[in-house]
Amino acid sequence: MNCKDFMSCMEDFIDGDLGKKLKEECESHIKECQGCMEKAMNFEKCIEFFKCCMPDTKQPEGMKGWMSRFMTQCCGK
Ligand SMILES: [Zn+2]
Repeated sequence: MNCKDFMSCMEDFIDGDLGKKLKEECESHIKECQGCMEKAMNFEKCIEFFKCCMPDTKQPEGMKGWMSRFMTQCCGK
């Protein structure tokens, strides 16, 4: 796994939606890659922030859309 792979599955990784193998690959990547670790942590904070501030956003699709937009702002990607 490289940084690009990690970025593309980070959302599912944090959501816990990844399969076991992919999850393990992500975990080993962020252990070795400070940059991705920080992005993942920022992203996780964003999600918590949204859960606190926007309790009405219950639909998974709505949430995902918000997260993607927020991730763009948070992570500058
Ligand atoms: Zn990386």
